[in-house]
Amino acid sequence: MTSFSMHGVGVSSGIAIGHAHLISHALLEVVHFKVPVAAIPVEIARFESAIAIVKNNLEQIKQQLPASAPAELSAFINTHLAMLSDKALSEAPKVIIQNERCNAEWALKQQMDDIVAQFEAIEDPYLRERKHDVVQVVERVIKVLLGRDQLDASEKKQQAKQERAMILVAHDVSPADAIQFKHHQFAAFITDVGGITSHTAILARSLNIPSIVALQRARDLINDGELMIVDGTQGVVIVNPDPEVLSEYQLKQNQWQLAQQKLQRIKTTKAVTVDGIAIDLLANIEVPEDVVSAKASGAVGVGLYRTEFLFMNRTEMPGEQEQFEAYKHVAEAMKGYPVTIRTLDIGADKQLHPDEIVTATNPALGLRAVRYCLSEPHIFHTQFRALLRASHYGKVKILIPMLSTLAELRQTKLLLQRAKESLRQQNIPFDEQITLGGMIEIPAAAINSEAFAQELDFMSIGTNDLIQYTLAIDRADDTVAHLYNPLHPAVLKLIQLTIQAAEKYGKPVSVCGEMAGDIKLTRLLVGLGMRQLSMHPSQILSVKSQILQCEEAILSRQAKKILSLSDLEKIEPLVKKFNGEFA
Ligand code: PEP
Ligand code: MG
Repeated sequence: MTSFSMHGVGVSSGIAIGHAHLISHALLEVVHFKVPVAAIPVEIARFESAIAIVKNNLEQIKQQLPASAPAELSAFINTHLAMLSDKALSEAPKVIIQNERCNAEWALKQQMDDIVAQFEAIEDPYLRERKHDVVQVVERVIKVLLGRDQLDASEKKQQAKQERAMILVAHDVSPADAIQFKHHQFAAFITDVGGITSHTAILARSLNIPSIVALQRARDLINDGELMIVDGTQGVVIVNPDPEVLSEYQLKQNQWQLAQQKLQRIKTTKAVTVDGIAIDLLANIEVPEDVVSAKASGAVGVGLYRTEFLFMNRTEMPGEQEQFEAYKHVAEAMKGYPVTIRTLDIGADKQLHPDEIVTATNPALGLRAVRYCLSEPHIFHTQFRALLRASHYGKVKILIPMLSTLAELRQTKLLLQRAKESLRQQNIPFDEQITLGGMIEIPAAAINSEAFAQELDFMSIGTNDLIQYTLAIDRADDTVAHLYNPLHPAVLKLIQLTIQAAEKYGKPVSVCGEMAGDIKLTRLLVGLGMRQLSMHPSQILSVKSQILQCEEAILSRQAKKILSLSDLEKIEPLVKKFNGEFA
């Protein structure tokens, strides 16, 4: 057996060694034939029944999702359910069957090709990637039409009995299928398609198993049962490895696992530098159930609760009571630790509905986040009332995204005031001391951060957007991803300006973008004066381990040196050197 390697985009770190399990591609097996006129009603009924069965299956999967399932899963299943209810999928194929006398599978496949072509014409890469959802959902219907769904279930059961670690090799993986391999404990998964923001990538990170996407031809080149190594950190797959390579990776895998286990020992240790500077490590969460992993990670609070996920994939906005219950759940679960809840940050790559076609020329520069909420004050009012009511049950803090002018902040404060007044009139209790923070994620806000520091109770730097807007790099566009660099001197200077402004006015400041969870940047951020970092719960212990090893006095000298440079090519090696010296 020939050994070969493939390179893709590693989206979830770690090393897995196991045997390939190829996921079949139902679409390859679609037959084409003309239906006799008299049989058209039967063919249409067959199609309708397949759609109903898939909807039913998805509803069941959704109901049975364990509490520990990644939050994104139910959102993905909802996306697929919404697609199945869309006329383009549920009605148009029937017209094709009727008019062109195509068999149901063929009609559906033609309609799918049409929809996919429309998605491919969309410029926005995030939306363009949604074409994979269409393909996945159509595959499910075709499997039912072909009577193959039962077979697949029993095949999977059979394979689950096998003890060996399995590596899933797929053209693409649907979220609803992903829940199955969570039960079956696959060791890793790799796919031909998918970008860094694809659903596959998002899921891979939340399942916490090594994964690689964008391998192009993995499903073609790899055979069922072949031995493979998946290095999710490097984005490398090695098929049929030589014995020496295999033992080298076995060693690496053991080291990785040991390192992960070792990290558990510092779960309850305070994150303090060698010279006694305490750093608060907080969790970023997307849905209320995420508090479980936040607490398990030893986070000392929630630094960013992205509430927009509560508003997505539904026809109506969540009402005050529903929002209140979600926020109260988190506030209570965190037992007195701060819970920073961000108001609705919708727009750009985060649309309320996945099938919504964005018409704005530059959605990332459009009516999003606080701008959207100020243009729809009733939405803001409802959310403020829900947040204030929840503040009676824990330490809730309110965070406003995408501020660019003081006028926006002042209007927001007015609306918050009104919401407070309405609660007072109804004698509904809330925390009168509740604090209001703002996200610094637009260069204008960072440059003007002294003004914001005076009018806000705290600030949180959203580096994901700050980098996007400073460098003019769409954060969801993989064609310019290589230019998206947190170490760009302009980005570092904006972070420094914001920290200085916060210090000057005695206001807390944190970083809640991806920079906070990147261990290669921990020393630099601490050296710059950052004392609060908020990140995905799975990153907290490794960041803490960095903090425990460093001396703030040294880091601050190093940070000054880095800040004095204006050439990225000099900054990058210096950051590496400083990290290496204390690693
Ligand atoms: C950010 O922009 O850094 C941030 C934390 O917000 P989001 O990623 O939700 O835009
Ligand atoms: Mg942001």
